[in-house]
Amino acid sequence: MTAMKTNLTRRDLLKLSGLTLGTAVASNALAPVNATLGASLSKDKQSSGSPGLPEETPFIPGEKLAADEMRITFLGSCFIPRLKQAANSVFVEVGAGDSFVFDCGSGVTAKYVACGIPYSRLDKIFLTHLHADHMSDLIFIYCFGPSTDRKAPLYVWGPSGDKPEDGTRFLCDKMREMMKWHIESFSFLATGLKQGGDGYDVVVHECPYMTVGGAAYNRNGVKITHFPAVHARNGSISYKLEWNGLSMVFTGDTQPNKYVIEQAKGVDVLIHEMAVPPEVWTTHMTGLHPGEPGYDRSVAYSKAVQASSHTPQLALGYILSKTRPRLGVATHFTANPDAIKPALDDIRHWYDGPFTIATDLLVINVSKNQIRQRRAVVSDYAWYPVGKIYSETELEKPRYPSPTAQLNSTLLGNVIPEEIYQRPKKK
Ligand SMILES: [Zn+2]
Ligand SMILES: [Zn+2]
Repeated sequence: MTAMKTNLTRRDLLKLSGLTLGTAVASNALAPVNATLGASLSKDKQSSGSPGLPEETPFIPGEKLAADEMRITFLGSCFIPRLKQAANSVFVEVGAGDSFVFDCGSGVTAKYVACGIPYSRLDKIFLTHLHADHMSDLIFIYCFGPSTDRKAPLYVWGPSGDKPEDGTRFLCDKMREMMKWHIESFSFLATGLKQGGDGYDVVVHECPYMTVGGAAYNRNGVKITHFPAVHARNGSISYKLEWNGLSMVFTGDTQPNKYVIEQAKGVDVLIHEMAVPPEVWTTHMTGLHPGEPGYDRSVAYSKAVQASSHTPQLALGYILSKTRPRLGVATHFTANPDAIKPALDDIRHWYDGPFTIATDLLVINVSKNQIRQRRAVVSDYAWYPVGKIYSETELEKPRYPSPTAQLNSTLLGNVIPEEIYQRPKKK
């Protein structure tokens, strides 16, 4: 088993993306969000960059993580999958080498590829709930892991529901059934290891959704617990990760609730959802303004969605004032330029500590004495990164004897043979 390294230098990456760093930041309308918020709004200088390493120092995929550091990368940060913000996903790595995926909504696979994170490192997935903006790329991660470098089962944690069919196990079982054609089609390749199971197996750990502080994961010094979220219907949870004296809470979607205040008190990083006011939501979605026909009804609809499910900006400010993390991060947020300032005004009504609003490719390095916020510089044309190459002796035999074993003789008889189209051999 060999680890393959990304041999691209920072200069190569900038060349690939056709940008210099200055223009990369300038050309991304959302880039200044993280760059400036941390710097201008942080009361804690430690969170705005270490000496000699300005905040805008880019993160280049492949950068080594210090043994005592935790790194949090945002691959998706919105409920709408859009070009600059995929739906939700947070990738957490600890210096000890382990990595964890929290939610994986629509569009995040492209960001994982861009960040050079191979499927072998996306093997532990923690779902907060089963809304599609938090889990739809699970299908892609599941399907293409075994045909690249995840030859062992996919481990999925997620909430239980009131009935079995409301829970994560049901979702994963049905996913396997639904993707049968895909699974068979790739099974002419080795998809499993002689020791360690098959890549198309899914091992599900259902977390009882009402349990406060329930254990989800406890290995190699990493402890992940869960607690209830209040979101749409029964069966949503939030997670807390603790390692080496560092901690992170990821709420997923929730109304503002007392569990978070209890569980996130004094954590290093609190990642909490935040929703724009219903009036802003309405105008962006429908183009309607106050006084126009349909506006009031649309606002009432937005209010109903938010009342069932989400956290207003002022409420997040209040929660931050009660929990006082070393860094507060809002996510699941439509970070349009016109939404930023009103959101900050609401947060600052309650809370004056370090705070940022996540957009995709925000990278946060957390150690005992500092928290650094940076932005990943990536190629728009990245290929699947392969982190592990297996030897023949490690791999289980493919289930089909050849690449064409699942095609009938009529179809195969209609394939144009290579000798028809190949270049004539030089004499
Ligand atoms: Zn959501
Ligand atoms: Zn949701």
